[in-house]
Amino acid sequence: MAKLENEYYHHPALLYDKLQDEKKSVICKLCSHYCEIKDGNIGICLLRKNIGGNLFTMTWGRTEGLAIDPIEKKPFYHFKPASRVLSFGTPGCNFRCMNCQNWQLSQAVKYYSDSAKATKVFLPENIAEYASINKIDGISYTYSEPTIFFEYARDTIIESRKNKKTESLFHVFVSNGFFTKEAVEIIDKENLLNAINIDLKFMDEQKYKKITGGRLEPVLDSIKRIYDLRDKIHMEIINLVIPGENDSDEDFEKLCEFISSVSLNIPLHFSRFYPHYKMNNKHSTELSSLLKAKQIAQNRGIKYIYIGNTTIPGAEDTHCPNCSELLIARNKYGIVENNLSVKNDIPFCPKCKAEIDIKL
Ligand code: SF4
Repeated sequence: MAKLENEYYHHPALLYDKLQDEKKSVICKLCSHYCEIKDGNIGICLLRKNIGGNLFTMTWGRTEGLAIDPIEKKPFYHFKPASRVLSFGTPGCNFRCMNCQNWQLSQAVKYYSDSAKATKVFLPENIAEYASINKIDGISYTYSEPTIFFEYARDTIIESRKNKKTESLFHVFVSNGFFTKEAVEIIDKENLLNAINIDLKFMDEQKYKKITGGRLEPVLDSIKRIYDLRDKIHMEIINLVIPGENDSDEDFEKLCEFISSVSLNIPLHFSRFYPHYKMNNKHSTELSSLLKAKQIAQNRGIKYIYIGNTTIPGAEDTHCPNCSELLIARNKYGIVENNLSVKNDIPFCPKCKAEIDIKL
């Protein structure tokens, strides 16, 4: 049970092992940092603390940024089009991205810092109730890395499913993909997630380390593991294109080679970078770089490619990969035209009748 102390819940953590040493250390297995944490210390995410040889999460029940969004804003373009999702996150993150757009939240360096204190206590049952009152379709765990508030997200999902009015809500993560195989196992075993958007930031280990503090290999493993669960969990991938960091032909070739080796059906979003946080000195991504990325992805045979955060006409539209017919037109995160035909809940192209990989 969660215990309230100094306005903070100390909630027992999931997925850790106790090391039988004199420091009462534990190993956290939630994300691929696999932090070894001595009694009294916290992990890299700054919100999981070893107290007397037991691991606790300190941001359970504290919500930030509660908002209702179209699912296209997350972005998901091939999952429950035009649905409304309740979005929230908590302070803290396992990455230190130099370009983070939510750095005041994700890098709330200590859980007793002002930005962490400013978050509201909002228990899982409160979130389910709020979802029910606002008649939303699903819940999006986002803004900071949802794996890091996994217990809170899991309890919210379980709570939603207890309530007749919210049992049919879907649940989606917007994630950096740095979670472990152990985390995937529990997500799978408990059927926690319906969809996930994974941010594949770079195809270079050094860049991952320097700009995020994470590593590439675990993210690639997560994408493969989630793809193996594709009958249960829908996946889309986003790549933020940062000038001078990951916008060379070679970068795009490597990224598209990897994605196409997993599946040509995974929707791929290239997103425009704007200066933020410690990357304030860079300019925004050239539109020509984003168009080049799209061309390289097309050459690889990737079927659904989008460019986000720009005003390029049609860059967020879905076309039939077989005959190029316009299927869905989008504008500023909303759907403005939907031409999909549907039979037995399966969408298909009205012109050539090809099945389209969109979950309705
Ligand atoms: S979630 Fe990741 S960063 Fe946080 S304590 Fe666990 S292994 Fe370390």
